[in-house]
Amino acid sequence: MLHLNRTTLAQYLIEECQDKDGGSDLVALLLGVAQACKMISRTVAMGALGGATGKLDSTNVQGEVQAKLDVISDEIFRARTEFGGYVAGLASEEMDDPYPVPPNFERGQYLLLYDPLDGSSNIDVNVSVGSIFSVLNAPRPGEEVATEDFLQTGSKQVAAGYAIYGPSTKMVLTLGNGVNGFTLDPVLGNFVLTHPDIKIPETTQEFAINASNSRFWEPPVTRYVEECMAGKTGPRGKDFNMRWVASLVAEAHRIFTRGGVFLYPRDNKQPPKPGRLRLLYEASPMAFLIEQAGGMASTGHGRILEVEPTELHQRVPFIFGSKEEVARIEEYHQSTPDDDFKNPLFNTRGLFRDAS
Ligand code: MN
Ligand code: MN
Repeated sequence: MLHLNRTTLAQYLIEECQDKDGGSDLVALLLGVAQACKMISRTVAMGALGGATGKLDSTNVQGEVQAKLDVISDEIFRARTEFGGYVAGLASEEMDDPYPVPPNFERGQYLLLYDPLDGSSNIDVNVSVGSIFSVLNAPRPGEEVATEDFLQTGSKQVAAGYAIYGPSTKMVLTLGNGVNGFTLDPVLGNFVLTHPDIKIPETTQEFAINASNSRFWEPPVTRYVEECMAGKTGPRGKDFNMRWVASLVAEAHRIFTRGGVFLYPRDNKQPPKPGRLRLLYEASPMAFLIEQAGGMASTGHGRILEVEPTELHQRVPFIFGSKEEVARIEEYHQSTPDDDFKNPLFNTRGLFRDAS
């Protein structure tokens, strides 16, 4: 049980970062993130006994009702990462504006963005939740951060990862050199490398989408899903399964484990919604991980990692997973004029029955 020959997260980070500029600060920052995730994991695991379940009266900047654990997790992330001179500032789903490192601490060369508790509406039903994080270089290291500092394309990320608080607690991480999965040994309190060099299967027969929004979908999305649902007798010639957990981390973790495709597309609810997931601390870090694991992450029209951010809490259509399926969905977006939702030609699948 002592894992003598297994690599711990600390060991992995030290080995991976020792030759990088600013490597030791990055190690310290990511160990702070890991410590935050361990604390959130314990808080989540205590459930109602820890007094941390339930909703607050407050809403966050996106107008979403905050769960107690949203706020507690946010405080945990901040407390475990603001000291030590590693970051210049933080940005979180739960904070309207960026958080500059206060004057009593040194300011460092990195920026940390996070969704401290993803899937928080699942807490009370005891379904997996998680945390998502992204590390950027601070454009003005040591200076007080401004919103613009955080508006970097995902391709500039230094590191990204998530923790999932499920039957076991896991952390999945990339530093731009592949994706590695660590499992928390709750006795030693260490994350231990259990899933080295994760690769997402290129082919899949599993998709995940909130089908209750189907009347608002764009034609290429409708076409894709209808073709999946048509199964063996349809243009795809094979049966598909559908999954929907309504928790990004849980959906992504399934896809990292056995493949699949996830869609939260743009839709034409009034007014048209540019998707639901947030670019900088949800889609971007996941896209970095997905690409590093051999998958694709797209808006439908191009790489998530190339989207130019304009706002801290901006939302983005997000389609990711097994390469073959995401490439196909991108192809449908190119070949179908989705700027016109009402075009009757694209409301039926008749026209496209023979397309492969
Ligand atoms: Mn989230
Ligand atoms: Mn959240």
